[in-house]
Amino acid sequence: MTPPPALQLEDVSASYGSFRALFHVNLTVENGSAVALIGANGAGKSTVARVASGLIRPSSGRLLISGSDFTGSAPHQIARTGVALANEGRSLFASLTVQENLSLAFRNAPSVTDPDAAMNSAFALFPQLEERCTQQAGTLSGGEQRILTLARVMATKPQLLIADELSLGLAPLVTTQVYEALATIRDSGCALLIVEQHLDHALALADEVVAIEKGEITFRGDPADVGEVTGGLLLPSGHPAAIDEPT
Ligand code: ATP
Repeated sequence: MTPPPALQLEDVSASYGSFRALFHVNLTVENGSAVALIGANGAGKSTVARVASGLIRPSSGRLLISGSDFTGSAPHQIARTGVALANEGRSLFASLTVQENLSLAFRNAPSVTDPDAAMNSAFALFPQLEERCTQQAGTLSGGEQRILTLARVMATKPQLLIADELSLGLAPLVTTQVYEALATIRDSGCALLIVEQHLDHALALADEVVAIEKGEITFRGDPADVGEVTGGLLLPSGHPAAIDEPT
């Protein structure tokens, strides 16, 4: 029997107070596959990530993880199922070394049974961390701090990683490295929900692309069918607005 998908949002709506940010969103991430969720500023991408990781409770609809209903569950209960959220926040222990930050994370991660193996996979994903393993995290560059944050999450081998705008503010070479690391963990069986505004890397990695606009899903399909991006809005190839450039 085929196992249920890693993540399903079924007819999810969500609000911030009286402001409704999501309208009847349906989204599925199959086991071991990568979905890129794309859209303009304020479209609702991060809200989807927050619903999927339990930070926001949907006002209606259901959140299913590996087929079980986690609607309304707390983030730590969802994390225990192997769902991890990686975003631009750093939240490192500035006075601890790179290695100490990683050790602490691996000791506390329910999915990690072998902290040494997790450390080795963190260093394999991002070799610069091994070079800097005795350096205090607070003295790393901004890009290195972000990589340390990501290594901390990726090396725990989550079932599903929700990657929210990971390329934001990163140098192009570092972004490439981050996407190579995402490809590595996807190939080892981790499902990915990649939330991005910058599309090149996300589309190259994704098995499926889903576009959101003003809280509603407007497109889903093969990344190869994505034609053009105008002002951050995704338009499938053949869409009239993708052809008629505004003057
Ligand atoms: P960006 O790429 O700019 O981060 P996004 O697609 O991730 O955008 P969201 O952060 O999901 O967009 O925001 C969706 C809508 O919800 C926006 O209109 C935003 O202003 C609103 N919103 C987000 N967070 C809050 C909040 N805490 N309180 C009120 N409104 C919010």
